[in-house]
Amino acid sequence: MTALPVPLLVTRAREAAEGWSALSFREREHQLRRWAAELARARAGIVATICRETGKPAGDAELELVVGLEHVSWTARHAERVMRPRRVAPGLLAVEHRAVVVRRPLGVVGVIGPWNYPALTPLGVLAGALAAGNTVVFKPSEYTPDTGRALAEAFERANPGSGAVLQVLPGAGEAGAALCRAGTDKIAFTGSTRTGQAVMAACAESLTPVVLECGGNDALIVAEDADVEAAARAAAWGAFSHAGQTCAGVERIFVAEPVSEAFIAALTRELDPVRAGEHYGALTTPAQEAVVRRHVEDAVDHGGRFLFGGNGSFRAPGVIDPVVLTGVAQDRPAVHEETFGPLAVLRVVRDLDEGIRLSNSVPQALGAAVFSASADEGVAARLRAGMVSVNGVLTFGGIAALPFGGNGASGFGRVHGEEGIREFTSAQSVTVRRLRLTGSGVTRLRSPWWKRPLLRAALHRHRTPRDLP
Ligand code: NDP
Repeated sequence: MTALPVPLLVTRAREAAEGWSALSFREREHQLRRWAAELARARAGIVATICRETGKPAGDAELELVVGLEHVSWTARHAERVMRPRRVAPGLLAVEHRAVVVRRPLGVVGVIGPWNYPALTPLGVLAGALAAGNTVVFKPSEYTPDTGRALAEAFERANPGSGAVLQVLPGAGEAGAALCRAGTDKIAFTGSTRTGQAVMAACAESLTPVVLECGGNDALIVAEDADVEAAARAAAWGAFSHAGQTCAGVERIFVAEPVSEAFIAALTRELDPVRAGEHYGALTTPAQEAVVRRHVEDAVDHGGRFLFGGNGSFRAPGVIDPVVLTGVAQDRPAVHEETFGPLAVLRVVRDLDEGIRLSNSVPQALGAAVFSASADEGVAARLRAGMVSVNGVLTFGGIAALPFGGNGASGFGRVHGEEGIREFTSAQSVTVRRLRLTGSGVTRLRSPWWKRPLLRAALHRHRTPRDLP
């Protein structure tokens, strides 16, 4: 891994940005798709690296990589359309001008990634930044340096001589902090809300713009007309795959009273055979276990009960079988904070409405899931969440055309899809004179305003709006 100082990496990236942004969209698309092909070829090694660094099972690592490749390929193919210059009406006052919105790349983007999805998360961000014509300095988590390096090495192998188009910055949090102050044109951060705040504060010093993909605390709501078996399968997978270390994983379950018994029975059947170390790995970092323990102990101390699992679920350091708590008050950390571990808190509610109200009652607003035979897009409008899946869980994350991101304490800005390309561009407004009019409104200062016909016409239009009822 390159060990150059951060400012030098950014300088090299800036030099490379000139050539990279000057390539045609078609050429960048080819380079990005060759990268995806090379990552697919190197799959076995990358999957093994992800497993070693995160502790997740091979099937999960494989899925993560494949979804990441989807993002790279979709983004490569769609960047030209998304960034196509857009003609807009100049309006009466500038009628002699052509007006165009042009999307320009920003220059150099600093990407800071987490350890939980060390391939998928960066790939989705890198794809948008690179396809838009930026070069990237990428800092992977200190827990997953080899996966980060493997992504960049595959880019270089696929596109020999690409050099500083995609560089990796090794190191821990201080390296990320230095990148925030290194004069990049944007920082794309994925990680915890607390670190996101530090990133934003550091970037504020130089007005470096940021996109922050921070922690979640997602709810899954089971309405009384839900397919409870499907909801239970989704809850089990959404809450416990990768030991619950998924930003948009299910942390809270709200189930309508009429189906609560059937749902709890189905969830118990789903979870009975699930074992940490077999169906999912140990927690990736020791600090995470402390959070899970704190949330469970606090909940139990304040009247919470084990609905599934118990103190015996903590089988060895970092090895925790599924735990479901119930009877936990809304203001306890297990409900209010992101746990990021194999813990879900279930609450029986009156109906879908109460589930929605409680789902919306935490600071985070990343994703949400609703199970109901009658729900559709309409339910999403009532949920405070950047992403909503109806009769599915986490499905939005696997659809390359959908933007990914949250609101509130989950951050702002979007990666993936069209928005994930625009995020790494700036809009440049361009006017080009196309006619020469004597009565023009904004370019002729000689005659008094009331003599300028276009101004008079515009004023008249506002006095008598014809298009209002
Ligand atoms: P952290 O916030 O601990 O770290 C994220 C990245 O920031 C790491 O590369 C880390 O480096 C780096 N970093 C640490 N300190 C600083 C600093 N002061 N300035 C700049 N960078 C810094 O998150 P985790 O790696 O623990 O990831 C888990 C979190 O990420 C969870 O909260 C999860 O919800 C969230 N997440 C959000 C996603 C989303 O899309 N919304 C997707 C995936 C995860 P190092 O690790 O080397 O210390």
